[in-house]
Amino acid sequence: MELREDEQEITEKENVMEFVYSEVFVSEEKLASLKKIMDETIGESKYYRFKAWLHFANLERWQSQRWHHGYLSSQEGDICTCGLVMDEVSLAELNEDAALGSSMYATLRALGVEPIHLIAGHRNLPTLSGLAVAFTYDYQHHEELNAYLWDALCQGCGETVLQQRNDLTDAFVEQHNAKCGGK
Ligand SMILES: [Zn+2]
Ligand SMILES: [Zn+2]
Repeated sequence: MELREDEQEITEKENVMEFVYSEVFVSEEKLASLKKIMDETIGESKYYRFKAWLHFANLERWQSQRWHHGYLSSQEGDICTCGLVMDEVSLAELNEDAALGSSMYATLRALGVEPIHLIAGHRNLPTLSGLAVAFTYDYQHHEELNAYLWDALCQGCGETVLQQRNDLTDAFVEQHNAKCGGK
């Protein structure tokens, strides 16, 4: 009987989905300090100071654009702009179509998205809070319109909006997180 309870406990733990997040918050102080170091550096190493500043300046910009994508590869796995880490557990789920269900994976894969867009556990941007099932995943710059147009998807129902102004994709994301399982 005791053994059965132990087994039960293990099974339950394995069924609890735990997401791994990396620290991706970029404070204004951090950006200002990296900028100051860059400005004060003379010579060859200025380029490396510039790259250090640019890394975090880009991350902050992408978060404010609410754009989810794998911005960094680390030993732990690829990291989304929302901090979600595609670790071994989420990769295994991805390979088995486990977390979202096979038909949802097929729908979303057909969009040609990055693997990190197919795993569950994204957080809302730019707040880095809650759980997002709908999010912006790509964009294109249209020179003739002088505009960026965005693509968003919903992991809850499989709907998408493609090549729209960001206020429309933001509205889509908000609606679908409200009705399709976001928090
Ligand atoms: Zn994300
Ligand atoms: Zn939806």
